[in-house]
Amino acid sequence: MKGYFSLPFFPLKKSEFRERFAIIFLSTISWLYPFSLLAQPSLSELCPTPVLSRLQSHRVVSGETIDSIARQYNLVPQTVIGVNTGLEGRPVQPGQELLIPPFNGIKITVPDGATWQDLSTAYGIRSDVLFEVNGCVETPKVVFIPGVNWQPGQRPSQDNYIGLRGYPLPTVAQVGLSYGWHIEPNTGESFFHGGIDILAEEGTPVLAADGGEVVYVGQEGNYGFLVIVDHGNGRQTRYGHLSRFGTRIGQSVQVGDVIGYVGTTGRPDILNPHLHFEVRFKSPVGWVAQDPQIHLKLN
Ligand SMILES: [Zn+2]
Repeated sequence: MKGYFSLPFFPLKKSEFRERFAIIFLSTISWLYPFSLLAQPSLSELCPTPVLSRLQSHRVVSGETIDSIARQYNLVPQTVIGVNTGLEGRPVQPGQELLIPPFNGIKITVPDGATWQDLSTAYGIRSDVLFEVNGCVETPKVVFIPGVNWQPGQRPSQDNYIGLRGYPLPTVAQVGLSYGWHIEPNTGESFFHGGIDILAEEGTPVLAADGGEVVYVGQEGNYGFLVIVDHGNGRQTRYGHLSRFGTRIGQSVQVGDVIGYVGTTGRPDILNPHLHFEVRFKSPVGWVAQDPQIHLKLN
């Protein structure tokens, strides 16, 4: 072993160097791999995905305005204008793609040298919240400031929503079917999936993704056994295909409370057992399903 780790490369020819390096590299990563599964997650792994990486896109259709689009996503128009450059004072055009954040706020370019603490003082939002919402980077550059009142020195709005506080299962699991349009493999027809299917064994406890009031417990078409939790401020989460319930209608729940158990009731879109999880926002045309991934802190 002597000499193996000390200066092994210098006496080698280029081809030998490459070969030796590849062997050391591959043996090191294959050895480390099982340990990496056990290792503590790093700070950046624990950190939520930054809001500016969780924007969904909206294609403008004829007759829509910035105001109507903002209302559709339960946002104020300034939020939509703030993350889409060049919108101010101009009507939107059909076919135009807009970026939509999961909650109200403004995107700003941080002045050189400004810290999270400086931003916190200026906008009245806790610095740890700003740090987390923006992906836990040390030096803020282009950031999203959550809230509705963005003039420095003003108080933040009453609605401090910055995403769901919890996750609907005890551990973060793989998504078997994502939100959005999909092609049904047998028929070739496209269908819209209004939530995400999170893979989990039948019987796994299903948890309230945030605090609120249980407003529906029952059987509902394709959803099968369904629980709906209302979180206030025009926000709901839905939990479908449950095997049984763990809550009653009208009950107040805290984030993490068991509200049911994973099952296969209704008409699931994929065969593997899963939780169908939806996030809905109240719009003038009724409840609109948004991509839950932009509301979940851990993806
Ligand atoms: Zn589903």
